[in-house]
Amino acid sequence: MTDGLLTGIDQPQVLETTLSLPYTLTTGRAAGTFLAELGNKRILGSRCDKCARVMTPPQDYCSRCGSASETFVHMPERGTVTAVTRTDRAILALVQLDGSDSGFLHRLAPDSHHAAVGARVRAVWADTPSQSMLDLDCFALDDTGGHAGSAIEVGEVAVVAELAYSLTLHYKHAYGPHYGRLFDELATHRRILGSLCPSCRNVLVPPREFCDACFVRTAQYVDVADTGILQAFSVIHMEFVGQTRKPPYVYAEIVLDGSATRLIHTIAGFDVTTAAERLQIGMPVRAVWKDRADCHGTLDDIDYFEIVTGSERGD
Ligand SMILES: [Zn+2]
Ligand SMILES: [Zn+2]
Repeated sequence: MTDGLLTGIDQPQVLETTLSLPYTLTTGRAAGTFLAELGNKRILGSRCDKCARVMTPPQDYCSRCGSASETFVHMPERGTVTAVTRTDRAILALVQLDGSDSGFLHRLAPDSHHAAVGARVRAVWADTPSQSMLDLDCFALDDTGGHAGSAIEVGEVAVVAELAYSLTLHYKHAYGPHYGRLFDELATHRRILGSLCPSCRNVLVPPREFCDACFVRTAQYVDVADTGILQAFSVIHMEFVGQTRKPPYVYAEIVLDGSATRLIHTIAGFDVTTAAERLQIGMPVRAVWKDRADCHGTLDDIDYFEIVTGSERGD
């Protein structure tokens, strides 16, 4: 059954979504110890055993001579601004703590507008520890004339071995006219659309502008049944980030009746642990739709495909 000429839709549909990638960062010896000591309101540096360079934050290897820097030192909480820049969100500065040979990048207090190179600053600690760099809340301008201190050697201290992070990417995906029309029809009519190639007469799902076999422009939208044939399947046992279903579940390639392409979806509605014996290539399947209230115009509006038994087919 045809559904008119390809016209696309008036308003391009846009999917607005967030990709979230939680991960764990292994800090290493120097950074892990530095973070643990920040939680104790102490700033840690390292001193090179060979050339005596003092680095803050501490480094596992000397940035001047490359030797292993095994000695940790506690740094004074005062220093001098050696560079400063302003962004929309913060005033950032390189602070050279007294007794340190390297600059320490951190934010200045929000009221440090007139901070300039050479300004004296002091550490301001966060009220509640967060086991992060922000345990040291910021550096504030210090006009008390506090005297320069020097690094004090420390023995064994605790290490923060791992940190939990999450990379979050918020993005918009414009479907374009053909995918947009597909999702529009799914949402409003629970109808799956393909596009017909005028040359090979194949119906392509999802609908697309060009036939990928003949390279000619497709001519019409065509309704495709929500029944089809199981073409291939895989049982997923592994859990991974971003999964929308709980394993085990069956991922399958389905050729919908009236189409020539494969649709990836899940097969469910039966005991998945028997999938290897129960499922057979070529067996008929049928879409099980979600309740209308739960349909949002995506292929997930089909909850899953179920097996059509012999008696239902009238065999
Ligand atoms: Zn060195
Ligand atoms: Zn074709």
